[in-house]
Amino acid sequence: MSTTTPTAWDDPLSPPDAPLPAADLALEPSLPESPAVTEPSPAEAGAGATGLEALEMGAARIQVDDKQIINCRADLNQLVPFKYTWAWEKYLSACNNHWMPQEINMTADIELWKDPDGLTEDERMIVKRNLGFFSTADSLVANNLVLAVYRHITNPECRQYLLRQAFEEAIHTHAYQYCVESLGLDQGEVFNMYRELPSVARKAEWALPFTQSLGDPLFQTGTFENNQRLLRDLIAFYVVFEGIFFYVGFSQILSMGRRNKLTGVAEQFQYILRDESMHMNFGIDVINQIKIENPELWSGEFQQQMIDLILEGVELEIAYAYDTMPRGILGMNAPVFEDYVKFIANRRLAQIGLEAQFPGAQNPFQWMSETLDLKKEKNFFETRVTEYQTGGALSWD
Ligand code: FE
Repeated sequence: MSTTTPTAWDDPLSPPDAPLPAADLALEPSLPESPAVTEPSPAEAGAGATGLEALEMGAARIQVDDKQIINCRADLNQLVPFKYTWAWEKYLSACNNHWMPQEINMTADIELWKDPDGLTEDERMIVKRNLGFFSTADSLVANNLVLAVYRHITNPECRQYLLRQAFEEAIHTHAYQYCVESLGLDQGEVFNMYRELPSVARKAEWALPFTQSLGDPLFQTGTFENNQRLLRDLIAFYVVFEGIFFYVGFSQILSMGRRNKLTGVAEQFQYILRDESMHMNFGIDVINQIKIENPELWSGEFQQQMIDLILEGVELEIAYAYDTMPRGILGMNAPVFEDYVKFIANRRLAQIGLEAQFPGAQNPFQWMSETLDLKKEKNFFETRVTEYQTGGALSWD
């Protein structure tokens, strides 16, 4: 077995003396039954995990059964045959939902923001704090995907979706920047808010350790402990960060849009929410598939840890609701958000097979579910610009 360390792959011009046995391993019909029992060495676990391994001429063709979400040794550059069709379908749906921030008319928002009587101080604070939180939060998610998660998800159809998701996170950061620029807000104040304002900082601070452990270049899956660490990071980011931490802010802004205030900002958020809901559902599918393929990871002790993790997230999100709306605005106040966050948390827990922790929690914002339902967004699409400039620069003359 090769003892080459993964760092040898950092320089493509100096391949390691003995190539990693990726292609040989790809010949195996499937992984050992229980990865926990046959824990590979860290170097071995990295074999075939990047898609950048040396080619082996004449290696056998990929079979569906070769594929696994984590610790897979089959060639990661061959998208087909599909095994996880849900990942491929989400990639296609995401591409069908393509949008850009400049397509949304911000004129009415600019006028309203400039008008001293256009919005109350409380409404302005909600907008600024949410732009403060989201402008850096979506960048954090993107960095987590690209620098931490992507490397450890060893399946091409899931990676295809992750690439799309990473681009969408860039579009979201662009959208927040576009709102800040349109309204003429202080860019430094908004983008630095997660380092200045405790209520905005706390959620990012909570999430950072989960991405830092996976982003460590020496971290590799393949052992029981590290496989659980990856699963925990996925739950922290997809279920708590994108699945709970985004929802108070989204509903605050969308509620203002429903009352005809800052409809451009609200429309940006509506597009973002639709993308985010798919990110979360993709993450939940990945989490559940990892559970199916590695049932030993989902121990009773780990399940309790994940419940505690989600409950921490609930507490932080409720605190965020109070911080962003200490006095409440029309139709919304922090106590109502407590119910909403608990309702959302029950759903997230159920989606990954854990017991609801807030029995009887009701959804005070039924309209949010409608906003999330992609099929009900026909009207939304009728107003959008659909002609992209993708072919505009081509000339064959
Ligand atoms: Fe996202």
